[in-house]
Amino acid sequence: AKAQGRNRYSFFEPAIGARLKEEMELFSALRTAVKQGAFTLHYQPVIALQPGLPTYAEALLRWPQGGQHASPGVFIPFAENHGLIDAIGDFVLDNACDFVARQRDNGQPQTISINLSAKQLAQGNLPARLAARLADSGISPACIELELTESTLIQDLAAIGGTLQQLRDEGFRIAIDDFGAGYSSLNYLLELPVDKVKIDQRFIGGLGDNPRNQAVVAAILELARAIGVQTVAEGVETAAQLAFLRAHGCHYVQGYYFARPMPEADYLAFQLPAA
Ligand code: C2E
Ligand code: CA
Ligand code: CA
Ligand code: CA
Repeated sequence: AKAQGRNRYSFFEPAIGARLKEEMELFSALRTAVKQGAFTLHYQPVIALQPGLPTYAEALLRWPQGGQHASPGVFIPFAENHGLIDAIGDFVLDNACDFVARQRDNGQPQTISINLSAKQLAQGNLPARLAARLADSGISPACIELELTESTLIQDLAAIGGTLQQLRDEGFRIAIDDFGAGYSSLNYLLELPVDKVKIDQRFIGGLGDNPRNQAVVAAILELARAIGVQTVAEGVETAAQLAFLRAHGCHYVQGYYFARPMPEADYLAFQLPAA
């Protein structure tokens, strides 16, 4: 039996063993961070380009001790695949609600948008958890926008649509993140109740000089307008990109051109540029 075991083991490349070890280390580090709440939220302004719309903040998660895995682009998909996303999602929700309540108590009401992975939505009890947390701090759902992010294909669009509809009926606003990229495509506009689409950064990058990018973004803006959905362009880094988006009626812009995601104190001190 021992010899057989050794034989079976020899099928594994050493590189795979190393990767497994790395994944197990990441899992245990992340699980410890979840237990200790060792995360923090940064805030990036989402700037209204049109009168009457409120500028607000997107909350973006940070893991200061995460080392090479500190980027949410790395640890969020991992957490989704290893059963840790719900606990992380609760941390984000708690801290986002605390932020809103704190600013309200300071006489500076804020709205905030938080990222929700499709896996969290598929859990089913999310509306109840949201409702309980908001009731605790006396926050209206109107202060919270939910950005639907996805790193894997949504299996059951109808179920997710039902949950989103319920949340929207309760007063939350719903945005589709990374619109046009990956799985996040046109049929979401047909199947999901949506207030906003966030046009993926990869389309914004070439806006200054690439006619194809310009055509794609102009078409998305036109489509959104036609069905009464608001638009956010993310990853805006240049004046030329901003000028194009403004000329084509985009509602909101977000990106390094204005500000990076910042700790709370910096966000509150941030002065909006004249729009
Ligand atoms: P996202 O929701 O699409 O967030 C936008 C990402 O682009 C953020 O990266 C932000 O820092 C970055 N960004 C903003 N402006 C610019 C710009 O002008 N240029 C460039 N190159 N990048 C810009 P970040 O913070 O690393 O987050 C990566 C992804 O991780 C997010 O993409 C989101 O999908 C996920 N994520 C972040 N926080 C959470 C969270 O609390 N929950 C969940 N489920 N996912 C989260
Ligand atoms: Ca987002
Ligand atoms: Ca995005
Ligand atoms: Ca993204």
